[in-house]
Amino acid sequence: MAPEISHSLADLAAEGRLVHVAREFADESVEPYWLVVAATGDRAVNERVALAAEAARRFCNVVDDSELCTFIMPAIVDRSPVTIAIGTGGHSPVLARWVKGLIEAWLPSRLGAVAELAGRWRERVRERVPDATERRHFWERVVSGAVAEHAFAGRDEDAEQTLEAELTAWGGDAVAKRGEAYLVGAGPGSADLITIRGRQLLATADVVLYDRLASPALLNYARRDAELICVGKTARQPSITQKQLNRLLVGHVNAGKRVCRLKGGDPFIFGRGGEELEALFEAGLKFQVVPGVSAAEGCAAYAGIPLTLRGMSQAVILTTGHTVDDTSPTLRDFRPGQTLALYMGVAHYAEISAALVAAGHDPATPAAIVESGTTEKQRVIRTSLRSLAAAQVALDIRAPALLIVGETTRFAERYSWFAPSRIEHYEDAAAEPRTRVG
Ligand code: SAH
Repeated sequence: MAPEISHSLADLAAEGRLVHVAREFADESVEPYWLVVAATGDRAVNERVALAAEAARRFCNVVDDSELCTFIMPAIVDRSPVTIAIGTGGHSPVLARWVKGLIEAWLPSRLGAVAELAGRWRERVRERVPDATERRHFWERVVSGAVAEHAFAGRDEDAEQTLEAELTAWGGDAVAKRGEAYLVGAGPGSADLITIRGRQLLATADVVLYDRLASPALLNYARRDAELICVGKTARQPSITQKQLNRLLVGHVNAGKRVCRLKGGDPFIFGRGGEELEALFEAGLKFQVVPGVSAAEGCAAYAGIPLTLRGMSQAVILTTGHTVDDTSPTLRDFRPGQTLALYMGVAHYAEISAALVAAGHDPATPAAIVESGTTEKQRVIRTSLRSLAAAQVALDIRAPALLIVGETTRFAERYSWFAPSRIEHYEDAAAEPRTRVG
């Protein structure tokens, strides 16, 4: 509706692709329509349209005026019948298009073919697999397996035949056998640092057993109906023992569930993943292991500290400061020309530095403490063996924190790219490490 329209619109009208109502807007004009769009370029008219629409309970979009809108037009990723709408609440159409670009690139172009196939087979699958949980497992296999791969590649007939074959072969006792555990490394703290494989398995799991160290944002990738169980352990308040955890894991897998054991960092680096795997193995259950970015790698990268460096550090020792004594072998093996990455043990920095000095290391050897590495709370403290324990107390450093000892920690300031405002230098000249433990 407009008294006059442009040539290009007039052409569309001539082709019958739009109907031009050639008159001024009046309040009752909105009545016969489901949706109203005001795009007149005259703010006063636009406002009148919006008010009239509001009064008549019609949804109204006013172009470039989100205040007046009762609906917005999101960017669309069209894989019909799969449709993805991206809205920013009118704040940034450019951002919406950018997100659209990411999703466009990510989704197979023939996604719609899989949806259509699923629609055609829905009834038959419902009859053949009456149990709802089992049916979901069947469909998950379809959309993430060979059937979808055929469809994505344009081989619709193969997709159809494979689906039929899988449906025929779908066994009654298959449920229990389908139980499986996924030991997934969640990365050191930032949700972005999980692997693609880890995310895929997290997204298929029926049950997620997660650590306190795994980023809580990762749980958004779990299915909405997945059972989420926190099995986090903290140094001070043990909530669940490893034995109980193993039993929980084995129990759920035995019941036919796909269980994602989401572990901070890497499952096989101070993650007790080996123990959980042994419990699964003993019980004869299926499992997969997905590596993760371990705290040493994550903290080093986000603190700008190369773990090895030609001419400066030829080896990395990953060890724990949890239980330190004189004979702690890995600490004794640490030499100049190497980097030591020490997990846990924030409360034992005095003993650790004393043990290293007793083993012949210079008290001035540089060290860095990375607290809550890779997260928005990351702090990096550059210090030395001599001042390590004092730094921990003075700056109130708490777990999770990773201690890195060696010459390459000197680069933390130079290469700080992630949180340059939260890097501190701490030297306590008065502090002398105890020379002997105990
Ligand atoms: N499997 C994990 C380690 C678990 S042990 C991994 O591969 O990273 C827990 C210890 O890891 C903590 O005490 C701390 O020393 C270290 N850690 C884990 N996340 C960390 C983080 N975001 N910042 C600093 N240290 C971290």
